[in-house]
Amino acid sequence: MRRKPPFISESLRAQFKAIVVDVMALVPKGSHANYVIIDPTVPDPEGVFPGVPIYTGQSADIAQRILAHLRHAAVVPPDRGQLYARMAALIHAGSMPIFRILQVHRTRAQCLVAETTWAQRLLRSKAQLLNTSPDQSRILTRSSVRRMQRVGLFALTLDEADRVGLGLQVRCRGGCQSITVQPSSLARRFGERMTFRGVRQRLKRCHACGDANGFRLQPAAVSKTGWKAPEGSTLGLRYRDGGWFYRAEPDDLAHHELAANKQCASHSEDHGEYV
Ligand SMILES: [Zn+2]
Repeated sequence: MRRKPPFISESLRAQFKAIVVDVMALVPKGSHANYVIIDPTVPDPEGVFPGVPIYTGQSADIAQRILAHLRHAAVVPPDRGQLYARMAALIHAGSMPIFRILQVHRTRAQCLVAETTWAQRLLRSKAQLLNTSPDQSRILTRSSVRRMQRVGLFALTLDEADRVGLGLQVRCRGGCQSITVQPSSLARRFGERMTFRGVRQRLKRCHACGDANGFRLQPAAVSKTGWKAPEGSTLGLRYRDGGWFYRAEPDDLAHHELAANKQCASHSEDHGEYV
């Protein structure tokens, strides 16, 4: 016998739907969005949001993502992760979590980079984020943020990378070769849904000498109709000394302030290293 889907009352269902309809009004079709979940029962320390931000995320299908968050909180026992426990408590107390769109983007690459930037901005505005990844749960130095953004972009598929003109530089640590490969050439070999992370796994060793390969993202020509980020600037990245760098923003992290607060998670400098 098939198990029944978990029970969610009609009234709750209707409230969830209303939340989604409301949020979707701000999201152009086909875009990628950064969003924030807000607890309306605790005031936002900065007075910007209608409550304290408790989570930030990104999605290309924001309606489904919001519904998934709400359903999960409504039916999953509230010991599975802090976010859902918090959301479940709000839903059962009749104070619905609030969803807000922070920014919309044309590409997943931009949205991934912005996700880290938003999390850092919210954390510095005293948000109580229940996100679990390090770049979204604690305040980091600017160099750590850049590094995590570059590593985060390895989640792009070859097709997504091609659209923004990001190629993969592969360098043999033994020193016998260093080449930048266009995503379209990698896609012919691995398929366009393969991610950079997957490619990195498959090309671990130099085929000439067997030494380990190092990888980093590099600008590359786009092969298909799409939209190329001019010099990575719209990705919030700029190109310098052979690496992608996060563009500094006026409210960017001040290292000495963080160090003084003992909030600095890493003092390491960023040399655009290979990963
Ligand atoms: Zn080699």
